[in-house]
Amino acid sequence: MSAAFKVELRRVRMPLAGEFRTSRGSESVREMLLVRWVTDNSEGWAECAADAEPVYFPERLESARLLIAEVLVPLLAKIPTIDAAGAHVAMKRVPGNPLAKAALESAILDAELRAHGMSMKSYLGGSREKIRVGVSVGICESLSDLIRQVEGYVAEGYSRVKLKIAPGWDVEPARAIRREFGEDLLLQVDANQAYTIADVSTLRRLDTFDLLLLEQPLPAEDLCGHARLAGYLQTPICLDESITSCASAATAIQMGAAQIINIKPARVGGYLEARAIHDLCLAQSIPVWCGGVLETAIGRAANLQLASLPGFTLPSDISATKRYYTKDIGQEFHIESGTISVPHGPGTGAVIDLDYLESVSVEQEWLM
Ligand code: MG
Repeated sequence: MSAAFKVELRRVRMPLAGEFRTSRGSESVREMLLVRWVTDNSEGWAECAADAEPVYFPERLESARLLIAEVLVPLLAKIPTIDAAGAHVAMKRVPGNPLAKAALESAILDAELRAHGMSMKSYLGGSREKIRVGVSVGICESLSDLIRQVEGYVAEGYSRVKLKIAPGWDVEPARAIRREFGEDLLLQVDANQAYTIADVSTLRRLDTFDLLLLEQPLPAEDLCGHARLAGYLQTPICLDESITSCASAATAIQMGAAQIINIKPARVGGYLEARAIHDLCLAQSIPVWCGGVLETAIGRAANLQLASLPGFTLPSDISATKRYYTKDIGQEFHIESGTISVPHGPGTGAVIDLDYLESVSVEQEWLM
């Protein structure tokens, strides 16, 4: 094969600033795959959201690496001129695997926009300069530990707080945070699919805490359950894991299963699909916000670009760098008055620290 591009796949191990615990498990080191798309006049970077083990997403790092190397790149090599939109359509021939596709498409998009000197924000149709951001707080050992953590985040200036919940860690943490920080704190909870419709009485008790939303209480496939649950709750239901494409978003909205949608670009197969979901939601007056998966500077920069679109009216899970990493492979992001600025410059605007990247890299391969 001869093609007008080269692809580097690089496995990195990033130490996390602290352990992150959800109803699905915990992490203290983030092992991830980076994709670098190189053409004659430009290059772009993206990160794959797949974890080393399939704990949260069905794909895993190694399966994503193999799919990119053995299926997706050879598929794209057959196309004379590749851009992100063309790659998006071409990769639809391969079923599933949104994380692998998202990583490859995002690297192509970054390279394409850098070659044209255009920001991803302009390309996607965004206008906001500053993105309101919230923090996601993992499940804690104790209520006092939770209060101490939230105190720190409120002091750092986050616009809202999201508590990870699971059966046995739900009503009391929400009550404790409301009691401690008052009614003005924007507060929401995320169950990561940990409940069933039989838990309706517990979930109804959350209504008393004036939450912005209850995120993904039931299993991803259970849209009927979410629609039924919505009939019992005052708190709006936000779907995350259930939304894997624009079509699934349309179905969920139509069924009354989602009053709000968390758009995670990786989960839906990339930023082009993410924009399509945004456009659909905007037309249907469904608020959206951008979710996160412990991104490095590369994914964080791209998510800030996406969240500049007009339908992102709720604070997004795009934290300051130090929430997850003591040192990152790109520029540091800071919070100012509850917001993080969208990086300037072409593409995602990520500025990669190649020396540090080298020091956390554990494996590299070039394709083509
Ligand atoms: Mg979530």
